[in-house]
Amino acid sequence: MIVATPSIDFGEVVHVRPAAAGSKVLVVCEHASNRVPTGMRDLGLSGEALQSHAAWDPGALGVAEAMADQMSAALVQGGVSRLVYDCNRPPEAPSAMPARVEKYGIPANEALSAEMRRERVMQVYEQFAAALARQIKDARAELKLMVTIHSFNPTFHGKVRGVEVGILHGKDNRFASAMMEKVPGDFPFVARLNEPYSAADGVAYTLDLHGVANGLLNVMIEIRNDLIRSTEQQKEVASKLVPWITGALAEFESGKAP
Ligand SMILES: [Zn+2]
Repeated sequence: MIVATPSIDFGEVVHVRPAAAGSKVLVVCEHASNRVPTGMRDLGLSGEALQSHAAWDPGALGVAEAMADQMSAALVQGGVSRLVYDCNRPPEAPSAMPARVEKYGIPANEALSAEMRRERVMQVYEQFAAALARQIKDARAELKLMVTIHSFNPTFHGKVRGVEVGILHGKDNRFASAMMEKVPGDFPFVARLNEPYSAADGVAYTLDLHGVANGLLNVMIEIRNDLIRSTEQQKEVASKLVPWITGALAEFESGKAP
């Protein structure tokens, strides 16, 4: 029998904001929070590491919230740092509870016992996956599309990334392809397919597990985090993404897209 470590209070590991009835879109933000549960001593990390992209996707939640508001969509968001458990990774992946991310070693993850891993899987991953599955099941009659929202660092190994918005797909490329075929003329950001990451980096886990398996159209959107620092910027980016997404969805509903 596995007994939860009594000193760790995992708190709210997933938060669901319900939609108005009949929403066709579900928004997901796995890396919304950099919270480390009480009792984990910040995983041995500095404040700088906990504020960085290693611990979460800065700005992504604000965009996801604004998009959900603008589309009257439900939002499922993670409630702990991806360094505690990365909800966009399966339990067997080393990156689910990484010992190192970018320039940061994660002291508390360096010598995790099988029992400690299992506890995080049960307390974080399984709760998140169950809440997302429940949300999809409850809304399945109307639901057509799942959109996951992430953010990435403007530089990588000292080089500036030219891409500003990445449109990524997993096993089902239909929605990402439909979006890239119809980038709105007034879309103000550099948008590219499968940049700066792609499914080969293991980032399509949620898309495939919850989207493809449920027959939902699905797409992952990565936004360069220097573009979404303020609430105003987050709302602005959301307001540019929403018509693009709803336009692409309309293509499917009218039968113009496969
Ligand atoms: Zn992310």
